[in-house]
Amino acid sequence: MTAHAVLLATSNPHKLEEVRAILAVADIAVVGLDTLGSVPPEPVEDATTFQGNARIKAVAYATATGRRCLADDSGLEVDALDGAPGVHSARYAGLGETRDQRDQANNEKLITAMKKIPEQERAARFVCCLCVADPNGDVIMECRGTLEGRIGHELRGTNGFGYDPLFVLPEGLTSAELSSKEKNARSHRSEALRVLMQDLPKLMLHSGR
Ligand code: IMP
Repeated sequence: MTAHAVLLATSNPHKLEEVRAILAVADIAVVGLDTLGSVPPEPVEDATTFQGNARIKAVAYATATGRRCLADDSGLEVDALDGAPGVHSARYAGLGETRDQRDQANNEKLITAMKKIPEQERAARFVCCLCVADPNGDVIMECRGTLEGRIGHELRGTNGFGYDPLFVLPEGLTSAELSSKEKNARSHRSEALRVLMQDLPKLMLHSGR
């Protein structure tokens, strides 16, 4: 049995799975929004930074549920595109009903946008910002992690989600060609979570809530 639990404010099952696997090492159970009796409405993520959007989500879900809450806002920054898709990563192409359809449309748009960009100018990074908020809306912890790579020319690999099949790591594999264990050992999300875990007691849910 795990000693602690934390509520993760995301509707993205892939993020839930990754955060769950990483925090399991520290014996922390991650509870998803789907376990709540009624799921609060999704807040509008209209900040211009990952940190700002992580804050919006953590504060909105913490105040709505009355629980200390962890939120992740993440995405891809491409240098040749002046940091795009950035905070618009999830809906870069603006198309698709399902998450998988949106991911596919986003990757197709990125391949097209990068078509004429030479190899040495294809640097990119995944960024993950985490925020923990209290039920009264106070932000009690924030941290950030990054993973450096470059944008490939075609999709490779079937693991992970989002831009993983286009994100080429220094050794030449895409992050969709890594096993979940390999990705979780070095990802932007795991780097941010490792910082967060240094302050474990603050991460815990209020007892009895
Ligand atoms: P969010 O749910 O608003 O934070 O949007 C995150 C978006 O960024 C996702 O839909 C993906 O497109 C992208 N993204 C974030 N983390 C990853 C990752 O680990 N791999 C691939 N794409 C990611």
